[in-house]
Amino acid sequence: MKRIFILFIFLLNTVLLVGQSTYIYCGKLINTKKGIIEKDKTVIITSNRIENVLNGFVKPKNESDKIVDLKEKYVMPGLIDMHVHIEKEFGPKSRLKRYILNEADIAFNSVGFAKSTLLNGFTTVRDLGGTGVNISIRNAINAGKILGPRVFTAGKSLATTGGHADPTNGSSRGLIGNPGPKEGVVNSVEDAKKAVRQRYKNGADCIKITATGGVLSVAKSGDNPQFTIEEVKAICDMARDYGMHVAAHAHGDEGMKRAILGGVKTIEHGTYMSEETMELMKKHNVYLVPTITAGKEVEEKAKIKGFYPAIVVPKALAVGPQIQGTFATAYKKGVGIAFGTDAGVFKHGNNGKEFKYMVEAGMPAMKTIQSATVTNAKILKMENNIGQIKKGFYADIIAVDQNPLKNIETMEKVSFVMKDGVVYK
Ligand SMILES: [Zn+2]
Repeated sequence: MKRIFILFIFLLNTVLLVGQSTYIYCGKLINTKKGIIEKDKTVIITSNRIENVLNGFVKPKNESDKIVDLKEKYVMPGLIDMHVHIEKEFGPKSRLKRYILNEADIAFNSVGFAKSTLLNGFTTVRDLGGTGVNISIRNAINAGKILGPRVFTAGKSLATTGGHADPTNGSSRGLIGNPGPKEGVVNSVEDAKKAVRQRYKNGADCIKITATGGVLSVAKSGDNPQFTIEEVKAICDMARDYGMHVAAHAHGDEGMKRAILGGVKTIEHGTYMSEETMELMKKHNVYLVPTITAGKEVEEKAKIKGFYPAIVVPKALAVGPQIQGTFATAYKKGVGIAFGTDAGVFKHGNNGKEFKYMVEAGMPAMKTIQSATVTNAKILKMENNIGQIKKGFYADIIAVDQNPLKNIETMEKVSFVMKDGVVYK
């Protein structure tokens, strides 16, 4: 209740103080472009943009300007998670929910997920698949109707029949039906083109394909290839026409290869990636989105009896522990890393755990922060708007209490959040 009240006051202030500026005093400011921590800076915010970044603690020009004192904190740009599912949160009843929830129920559930994501420092997310309600969530956030991060969404993921993200997988025969491109299921080059155009029409920002089997789908294989290279190519070519990039969920190596050669921008999970495929990733400038947190979560939850359907358990136990090791090798080999967690497979708001797992696997803390800011901004073609605290950029700013280079777990306890110039925490 108290939090809501404070939020209300902040929002009210913002409305009343249009035209006035906020001066944020930053004791330590992380320069994500250079990968260094700078001391004693003032960030001036007018409306939703950063007006200037000055040395020292500068006195406000007008009496009505507001000062935010973050002298004791480590300040950085808002974080970007490249892989979330903002509509849902997995649990033992997930399968049942697919049949009993209406779109309105999904939308109401997601209000809390979006808010929790934002309040934990993630001011931008790429949503990689849901029912299509995710498009409405994005619009509601943009219109200021609900609190949440900036959302770039794939709408409904594209799969092949029986593949990971076929919406009627695991249903009784009477409910299986014959989903097609409209529902995100493709089985030919022609289907692929139609499915991409349908996503564009629905309002998606990017395209997600399930290039291989997946852990949580009710199907036997967690890693077999599920698209032909011609289908992947058709999807990527079509997506390019509409200014969209393609993200590929992939655990198995063959499906990954086809996805990379077909033209995708990111490989999600990358569990069984061979060293040869890592070289291919570098050659084609494709990024790995590690989702280590999701791997840890499914491994843990698979040990709880009845949490997942029986067919999922062996896949979760095999894939879970592998993801972090593959990430470690890929990073060492110089594969581009785009921070992403698969939040929704675990609790929304816990996205910050990924930093600790990345550092554990050998990526320096500063590099993990750069991955979650400048790298991801570039993939979203937002590198001139987000990912840095810089003149002209959106005022998406967060802070933590401790030095993340000394204690990376501080990233799980974000203590200040501003998005679009509005303070939410
Ligand atoms: Zn996912």
